[in-house]
Amino acid sequence: MGSKSEHSIIKLMLILCLVLIPKEVWSESVDKKDILYINSYSPRFEFFDEQLNGIKSVLGDSVELQVEYLDQGNFYGVKNELNFYNLIKYKINNYKTYDAILIGDDPALNFIRKHKEELFKGIPIITFGVNNKTNIEYIKNNDDTYGVEEGISLKKNLDLINKLYKNKNVVAINFKSRENNIDLDNFYKLESYYPDLNFSHISYEEEDTVETIKKKIDKIDENSIILLTYIYSYSSISYNELFELQDYLDAEVDLPKFSTLKHELYFDTIGGYMTSHYEQGKMGAEIAMDIINGNEPTSKLVSYDEVNKYIFNYEHLKKHKIKEKYLPKNSKIINKPETFWSKHKLVIIPAAIIVACLVVTIIIFIINNKKRRMYSEGIFKAKEIAESSIKAQNNFISNISHELRTPVAVIISVIQLLEKQNKDKEFDLTSSIKIIKQNCLRLTRLTNNIIDVAKMDLGFIDMRPVNIEIVSLLEDIVSSIIPYAKSKNINVIFDTEIEELVMSVDPDKIERMMLNLLSNSIKFNKNDGSIITMVKVNDSYLNIEVIDTGIGISKEYMSKIFDKFTQVEDIMIRQNEGSGIGLSLVKYFTEAHGGTISVESELNKGSRFIVRIPMIKQSELSMSYYEKNQNYVVVGAEVEFSDIYA
Ligand code: ADP
Repeated sequence: MGSKSEHSIIKLMLILCLVLIPKEVWSESVDKKDILYINSYSPRFEFFDEQLNGIKSVLGDSVELQVEYLDQGNFYGVKNELNFYNLIKYKINNYKTYDAILIGDDPALNFIRKHKEELFKGIPIITFGVNNKTNIEYIKNNDDTYGVEEGISLKKNLDLINKLYKNKNVVAINFKSRENNIDLDNFYKLESYYPDLNFSHISYEEEDTVETIKKKIDKIDENSIILLTYIYSYSSISYNELFELQDYLDAEVDLPKFSTLKHELYFDTIGGYMTSHYEQGKMGAEIAMDIINGNEPTSKLVSYDEVNKYIFNYEHLKKHKIKEKYLPKNSKIINKPETFWSKHKLVIIPAAIIVACLVVTIIIFIINNKKRRMYSEGIFKAKEIAESSIKAQNNFISNISHELRTPVAVIISVIQLLEKQNKDKEFDLTSSIKIIKQNCLRLTRLTNNIIDVAKMDLGFIDMRPVNIEIVSLLEDIVSSIIPYAKSKNINVIFDTEIEELVMSVDPDKIERMMLNLLSNSIKFNKNDGSIITMVKVNDSYLNIEVIDTGIGISKEYMSKIFDKFTQVEDIMIRQNEGSGIGLSLVKYFTEAHGGTISVESELNKGSRFIVRIPMIKQSELSMSYYEKNQNYVVVGAEVEFSDIYA
């Protein structure tokens, strides 16, 4: 046993080790791939980090990522490009090999195009953030070159504005000249699709300064919606001027502003279907991983409409009263405050589990407690029943001893008398013989009853039903008790509603039942009282009622008198003979006939025992037992009435 459980513990520990050891430990042995990422600008721009984070979200630690940047924003020109060329050349020549090159934005792709044959031959190039037409064509036409296109989803943004607002002016803003401005060309091309919207624009022309643009901004009508169309890209102004104008727009124009570029979202813009540099970098890295793993990428050039995303700023949605339900599906909402649930779910879930466990434990405890209580109540009841049954049996034993001793003592004394008197031959023996006989009958009754009780307990009773005319049988039984009733001057009446009735009963058992009831009605009757036996028919039942005017039975005992060995009077003060078996036998015989017995009684007024037996007949075969008006001889009265000295 001990070693088995030890084995289980060791197994469990091993499994835990496998699960808990960080995956990095296992991945150490895997051959890492190398990717060089060349960005056109520098970390100064927000989109630099965005793109890099998008790349890292895919590559994780499985790839050695090296990052270089051309810094076109700060150092534009041949000298910068030459220095960069030398740097990359040095790297390429001195590093093992790169499995793929990632390119961010057009200037870096221009660089690649120039030096592809010399520096990057055979290495897959994956570009993103590219929107220059020549570069797009280059991607399409060159093997080993893949790309994620960059562009403004004007249509999707205008659809969104059209859905949210009616009869508004849409003012497109970018800081390039209107001439050769593809973004504004495309904007006006879409005008005819939106009859409810009025199109206009603000652009940065040759004669413009920051101040003149500010004036243009001041003139924007109150009923306008602003659409920022890539204000950074190819702007005719410096970055500082651009930031100044951006701040001016934020501060002075409190109109809904939609944007086509994700990092404009950090200013006072609601959002829109936007170019996300994060998504670009992510998609570029996914293509690179496909190629490195030997899978053909699903697309050589992913269109900007596929990579752009609906992104909104929660605070600005709220400010302009735009409900989330009106936004397109799969919209991403940033700056959304954490709900109570999402903020605390790490605490709430375990707390809820603990509370649930506690509740279940308490419920189980309560149920167990209840069961235990019921169980102990059951034991207590069983104990009470056992005790009262032992008490009844003890009573029975003392009754029996008394019952046996009395007739035997009488018989012995009569025999002694006989012996003495036998010397005198002329002595009349009649009365002595009578006493001996009666006491023998008492002993016979007692033993009969004890035998029947034993049979009753074993569930065996010898029923011999026959079809018999029961009214005359009952009348005969009642008539047989008259001599015994005389001892107390009791009037015996037999009354019947029906003249005759043939039904199936065991006549011996009926006789025992009736004689028991009748002997009780004499024993517990008063002198000069009366006994009425009534025969009735009720609902296919035969009702036999034995009514007496005796001492009656208290309510307390009424439910107990049919139990074995029960007597109402205490043995020490009892005035009547008996063993407490009679009524239990009457009940048993009645039930053996399919019937019931009940009692109604009032103390000192009398009792009424009602026996109900179903009126059924035996099948034709047993009809031969039946003889109408047969003369049934009551033989048991002498025995059953041996208690009563007639
Ligand atoms: P027993 O042999 O003692 O008569 P039974 O089973 O016939 O035993 O009766 C049980 C007890 O019921 C009697 O001891 C008596 O106290 C009470 N009892 C029975 N019949 C009557 C009756 N007709 N009137 C009053 N009490 C009765």
